[in-house]
Amino acid sequence: AHRLDALPFDNSFARLPGAFYTRLAPWGLPEARLVAVSDAAAALIGLHPEETATPAFVAAMAGNTPLPGSDTLAAVYSGHQFGAWAGQLGDGRAHLLGEVRTPHGPWELQLKGAGRTPYSRMGDGRAVLRSSIREFLCSEAMAALGIPTTRALSLVASDLPVPRETMETAAVVTRMAPSFVRFGSFEHWTANKRTDELQQLADYVIDRFYPAARDAANPAVAMLAEVSRRTATLMAQWQAVGFMHGVMNTDNMSILGLTLDYGPFAFMDGFDADHICNHTDRGGRYRYSAQPHIAHWNLHALGHALMPLIGDADALDTAIDTPFVETYNREFLARQGAKLGLTDTRDDDEVLIGRLLGLLHAHHTDYTLFFRALGELPAVAGTPAQDAPVRDLIADRAACDAWLASWRARLAQTPRPDAERRAAMHAVNPKYVLRNWVAETAIRAAQAGDFAPLHRIHACLQRPFDEQPENIEFAAPPPDWAQSLSVSCSS
Ligand code: AMP
Ligand code: MG
Ligand code: MG
Repeated sequence: AHRLDALPFDNSFARLPGAFYTRLAPWGLPEARLVAVSDAAAALIGLHPEETATPAFVAAMAGNTPLPGSDTLAAVYSGHQFGAWAGQLGDGRAHLLGEVRTPHGPWELQLKGAGRTPYSRMGDGRAVLRSSIREFLCSEAMAALGIPTTRALSLVASDLPVPRETMETAAVVTRMAPSFVRFGSFEHWTANKRTDELQQLADYVIDRFYPAARDAANPAVAMLAEVSRRTATLMAQWQAVGFMHGVMNTDNMSILGLTLDYGPFAFMDGFDADHICNHTDRGGRYRYSAQPHIAHWNLHALGHALMPLIGDADALDTAIDTPFVETYNREFLARQGAKLGLTDTRDDDEVLIGRLLGLLHAHHTDYTLFFRALGELPAVAGTPAQDAPVRDLIADRAACDAWLASWRARLAQTPRPDAERRAAMHAVNPKYVLRNWVAETAIRAAQAGDFAPLHRIHACLQRPFDEQPENIEFAAPPPDWAQSLSVSCSS
């Protein structure tokens, strides 16, 4: 394991031409204190566990002292926001320190909220404690759920006031990802008619992350097809767990198919297929049911950006539509089937799944609770009391019983012992997700100076599939006080 001052840094992004970024030091955070660390993320970069308890770690993660070997920069990108071209954006409050080399590939370290950059536009370059807690917790929760995501190494905070709707305080999350390149990183160069830079970026991404595409007739097409598959898989995973991103702008779409930029995200409580989690998203462009379609739209924005390297517009069909649709349908069916305890899936299982989602939607049934409860039921119908864990979640008992009967008929086609199926279902249906009210609980305590709930929730979400009776309160649907919580782009 490495000492902090001996992390093996490389800075491959900094070796791209200067037009890709601005080199600059972070502004830092006055009187920064450590709020939370992810030991799991630290392990990924081989950081010695003792190091995260040192003042030097806090100073580095706050952007107050540079890490030896780092070469700090802010990257430029553009993008479509809410479907409209937004022009140049860029790392307005993110500083890339460089990448730590590991036997399993590179991990870039990025400080989010360490002050202004040339891409800050009207922003202050800061992130508030509230949104930083949400990003820290959700990054690590998604990873524990097995969903591709950027990671969060640490969260540091200070009393520095930051004006939002009210006066809040500043924090910095250290994010990690093999790369933070976005769809919008490519759109940027095409919009500016800079084909050389577009080619350089494609080469950079292909060489480092899609080496198999190098041998294809057209490497850009091959990369795009693989990005389509990864993005489709990610969408199936989001839908299956009831995750809503909230701001699926093209600048928030990772070229590696990672969940990127935790802002006004939410996990589904009571199921509403058209739920809009982002208060700022008036038109519902990014509602739950639209996420796969929006991802596909975003892939076309990426495909359009890559056209100078592709040349043939017909190639987009093979590079985007076919891989996306095939992968999404297959992954969605496989994941929803597994949630139902099926050992295999057939195309007509979509009917069973669709009817269930309709039922959950009609009764606003808690999504996470439902699937967890379903795992408890016997495969062969018993007494209504045995079905109570599920029946109690759906007011229309007759409709519930009818669906359960068809579910059981399907299970009977590939029988297996209840205990085995229960374990398989509990391994894919989490007991714990980062519900809005749970995040808010951590935030309110932290804002009052008590970080214990944040630490408890972080630990709980590391084992989302375990029962954890000591944390059972965090598995509950929103309490009354949380009914009116709303999240927006303000962060
Ligand atoms: P987002 O909606 O979080 O994806 O952010 C869109 C753009 O706004 C990105 O270029 C961000 O870097 C930038 N941005 C968001 N918040 C701030 C802020 N407080 N200061 C500077 N730039 C920001
Ligand atoms: Mg963003
Ligand atoms: Mg954001």
